[in-house]
Amino acid sequence: MTKPASLPDPSDFQHIRNWVFDLDNTLYPHHINLFAQIDRNMTAFVAELLAMPPDKARLLQKKYYHEHGTTLAGLMHHHGVRPDDFLERAHAIDYDALKPDAALGAAIKALPGRKFIFTNGTVKHAEAAAGALGILDHFDSIFDIVAADYVPKPAQLTYDKFLSLNRVDTTKAVMFEDLPRNLSVPKSLGMRTVLLVPQNLEEAVLESFERADAEYADENIDYITDSLLVFLEKLNMNVG
Ligand SMILES: [Mg+2]
Repeated sequence: MTKPASLPDPSDFQHIRNWVFDLDNTLYPHHINLFAQIDRNMTAFVAELLAMPPDKARLLQKKYYHEHGTTLAGLMHHHGVRPDDFLERAHAIDYDALKPDAALGAAIKALPGRKFIFTNGTVKHAEAAAGALGILDHFDSIFDIVAADYVPKPAQLTYDKFLSLNRVDTTKAVMFEDLPRNLSVPKSLGMRTVLLVPQNLEEAVLESFERADAEYADENIDYITDSLLVFLEKLNMNVG
């Protein structure tokens, strides 16, 4: 098995006209740790909902995340939670850690064709995060967990919904993601796939099953990089 490359082969991207980006830990790096705030809010929500101590709530939250793809999907399935209430609470975070990234904005803007954010979070969260990064205006649209009818990636149904809504030709598309399991469907549909990994993988706190994912680079991953900016800038030197 050949290891996925870390820098783009320009000929691999010459035909790409649809640039699909996950949001969290993809458009901003893992070490920003924005998701930790969301994670804490989700734990607090579960603790209050079920009148549990935080440590028990956290275990249940992680169980739902693992078994249902998101904490929300588990809470809806097992407890009939209303998604709006949960999402509002989960994303009540401070975006100050995200600073305007003019270089990233320029690199995204320079890519030929349409750009999308495809997230298991909400449009509101994506707009706030991308807005704080100063890159929001470069995206054509955002597809979120509400548009997905609360069925998270990596469900095939959700990719199909995203792709048909936006009339994306998968043979001319690439997906950027930090979770390897979210790249299997894109690869099977003929998309290029790029995995974002933390800059200090050893120090990063990952869920155990996420780490297990990250350690094997399978045939679903064309490229692995720890810098979206470096990757896109390298592409822009050769594409367009
Ligand atoms: Mg992500």
